[in-house]
Amino acid sequence: MVVEVCSFFGVYLLYCTNPRYQGRVYVGFTVNPERRIGQHNAGKRRGGAWKTSGRGPWEMVLIIHGFPSDVAALRFEWAWQHPHASRRLTHVTRRTSRERQFDFHLRVLAHMLRTAPWCRLPLTIRWLKQEYHKDFPPGLEPPLHMPVAFGQVRAVRGTRGVRPEPSEELPATPKRCSVCLKRFQEGDEDIPLRCFHSGCSMAAHIICLAEAFLQKEPDQFLPIEGQCPSCKNLVLWGDLIRHHKGCYGDLEADPTSSQEHWASELNCEEVSNKVADSDTSPSRQWMITLDSSS
Ligand SMILES: [Zn+2]
Ligand SMILES: [Zn+2]
Repeated sequence: MVVEVCSFFGVYLLYCTNPRYQGRVYVGFTVNPERRIGQHNAGKRRGGAWKTSGRGPWEMVLIIHGFPSDVAALRFEWAWQHPHASRRLTHVTRRTSRERQFDFHLRVLAHMLRTAPWCRLPLTIRWLKQEYHKDFPPGLEPPLHMPVAFGQVRAVRGTRGVRPEPSEELPATPKRCSVCLKRFQEGDEDIPLRCFHSGCSMAAHIICLAEAFLQKEPDQFLPIEGQCPSCKNLVLWGDLIRHHKGCYGDLEADPTSSQEHWASELNCEEVSNKVADSDTSPSRQWMITLDSSS
């Protein structure tokens, strides 16, 4: 089954299967993984990178997606390609002579996913080719809110084909914000966030709900998860935003599994405190709305 994902920004790992270059890997950014792997294997005249041109065939084995924008994904790509030049990754040791390139790139990735600002993003770690799948090193598992998924993914524009009938999905829009209890106004800048659990009528200003979710983490800008003020289900912020944008393809379907998933505390604060965060620290509004339109 191919999972369809909208607003797709991904950073992928290619593995070279050509015996002459076997073991080489390549890290790249894409908004369309299906098209991109074709370009790599067609060579640089057809849009492939010069580093991969003529050395194929390449397999796209792993992709990280769920970045809020192309800029966020490109910064991730750069750091994954140049871990020793990134001041966020000074704790990552160099590749040893015995370590395969593939294993080294996985180790760098594991550190990145636990390092600010990436450790707070609603990312999915997707193995596109199951035969390459490896567990993350012990002690370097990704944060609990990042699912590890398997199988192919397709980037889709907007909401085509994935939006269920609105009538069965949501009760009518409530008149008041479930958090601040103020009435929604005609001229309100943002459309209220809605809960996607069936039968739940929660609607709230984006800022109100973000602040409610961040109560225990006042130093953070981007919520990770929180309790719906109406139905009390634990919901991932990334899922609320995806639903808000009309993306239904990759929501956490089963609330109970989501709750178990979230039972233990997310633990990336100690890492984030070690890593200075200035130039990629986005404005509050940008992070909260996960705006991908720029
Ligand atoms: Zn409000
Ligand atoms: Zn709810």
